[in-house]
Amino acid sequence: MGLLRGSRVSFVYSRRYQIELPGVLYDPRRGEKVLAFLDAAGLIGPRSVHAAGPAELRQLRRVHTDDYLDSLDRPESLTRIVGLTVDDPVAGRILEAQRYMAGGTLEAARLALASGGVAVNLGGGLHHAFAAKGERFCAYNDLAVAIAEMRSRGVQSRVLVIDLDVHDGDGTRALFAEDPTVHTFSIHDHTSWEGEAVAATSVELGNGVEDAAYLDAVRTRLPPVFDAFQPEVVFYVAGCDPAADDQIGDWRISPEALLERDRFVLSCARRRERKLPLVVVLGGGYGQNAWRYSSRFFSVLLNRGRPVEPPSTEEATLARYRLLATELAPRDLTGEPQRDDDWGLTAEDLADSLGGLRPPNRFLGYYSLQGLELALERAGLLDRVRSLGFERPSLEMDLGNPTGDTVRLFGADGRRELLIEVRARIDRAAAPGAALLRIEWLLLQNPRAHFTPERPRLPGQSHPGLGMSQDVAALLVLACDRLQLDGLLFVPSHYHTASQGRKTLRFLNPEHEGLFRALRAALRDLSLAAASQAIEERRVVDAATGEPFVWPTLPMALPVTARVSGLVEGEEYERKAAEAAGRYSFRATS
Ligand SMILES: [Zn+2]
Repeated sequence: MGLLRGSRVSFVYSRRYQIELPGVLYDPRRGEKVLAFLDAAGLIGPRSVHAAGPAELRQLRRVHTDDYLDSLDRPESLTRIVGLTVDDPVAGRILEAQRYMAGGTLEAARLALASGGVAVNLGGGLHHAFAAKGERFCAYNDLAVAIAEMRSRGVQSRVLVIDLDVHDGDGTRALFAEDPTVHTFSIHDHTSWEGEAVAATSVELGNGVEDAAYLDAVRTRLPPVFDAFQPEVVFYVAGCDPAADDQIGDWRISPEALLERDRFVLSCARRRERKLPLVVVLGGGYGQNAWRYSSRFFSVLLNRGRPVEPPSTEEATLARYRLLATELAPRDLTGEPQRDDDWGLTAEDLADSLGGLRPPNRFLGYYSLQGLELALERAGLLDRVRSLGFERPSLEMDLGNPTGDTVRLFGADGRRELLIEVRARIDRAAAPGAALLRIEWLLLQNPRAHFTPERPRLPGQSHPGLGMSQDVAALLVLACDRLQLDGLLFVPSHYHTASQGRKTLRFLNPEHEGLFRALRAALRDLSLAAASQAIEERRVVDAATGEPFVWPTLPMALPVTARVSGLVEGEEYERKAAEAAGRYSFRATS
């Protein structure tokens, strides 16, 4: 590509961007995942990452009316903007997060102008915020705030805002409707602001758009704007919600086409004769994979035009926790001095030798309560729980039960709101020659969240989930590393838990894998919740005998060492699973 050689790329981020909202598909850690990936791939150093501070009130007032800004103090105005009932503390955190994102776009604009290069805010793109109202999750229009700040500093350059989020950049177009020095360009599904603007391109493509039509629109509509308007600075809202697997948008854009789109924008703004300062903001992107689209684009920016493929979300979560775990010494986790200090004896060893009747005080014989708390705090898990509104999370252990050791995390000291409960023990019998961490029971729930049509109640649930199952799975894998175990063992008690677990776990027995595939084939027309419910209510029957199917014990494993991966991978396993799948046949009755 060549056009990136010599250009500097800066990133702006703050942990204050992260806000957990139950039932919202937005990934609060998208920016952090992108940074962790770019760092692990060796593409950025610490000096290319800058901290965002909050936008100041005087900066917000250049764009938004005082009445509107005042109204944001009342939780009900924010409830309207985010479409969820929010109470005071949550409203405060949403506003704080968006104020930091606006500050991030300000900082990115400053960096891009100062260096003449590219600066990326790993947040922002709040394009549905108008002068006197906020809509669809956007309270402050960070793009407009940054452009207004440039103007206040005497930068009069012509600005082009390219907004390729799947939704109309309506707020931004309306805010600059009368400003001939800012051209707003948006390609979207439906136009949501029909007003006239002196310098704007608004392209509506409708529903279900595919690669060819999308890339054609970008390639034919964008270059004429560069030629006619002759921008001197470019802002790019690189929304990932046109992606086929996006949880909100209904377009069917492939990862390759999305990357091609980003490269095309880059080539328009940064080709040899026209190296314009470029400010990139994340924009929309909903679901597990949103961070991966942004990561591919930024890897192109940093790796001389060659994309680096990010790992799966599960692998990335685990890698992040492994990195954190290297900072925790065994003594931090166990509360014991290292074996090589002192005489290699602890007070408890002495107590043991003096009678051996002391009750167990370590989870899995290893982790002290303080050690677990420290690990959860360092992993950022307790902060996430706090940002869900549980201000003082508290941990307890229940040890010595023959079915396993239990750890519980409550929302506060009173032990009323149970968030996480894990019961585990070490199992040396389930897989020959392997020691596994057997998860007897795993509960992750948010007692303050409500079931909705999009998040229906699943069998066995009293409350919706906590949204942290991958994180807890990663921490359990770390426990395997620490205790030198070969993997995790989990026995799902419902069809839906097995189905969700299959993202990371494999059935230990290929026969069970075959059985599950046959079930899935029979239930493919049902939602996960409906499928699980049908099994629970014995409405799934053996197609040959008509006997109702009863959910059996199907142990699943997550391999950590080759001892276990050898059991659940490979041609032999596949052959047995396929053969078993052919033997089973189920039918759902109504
Ligand atoms: Zn969007």
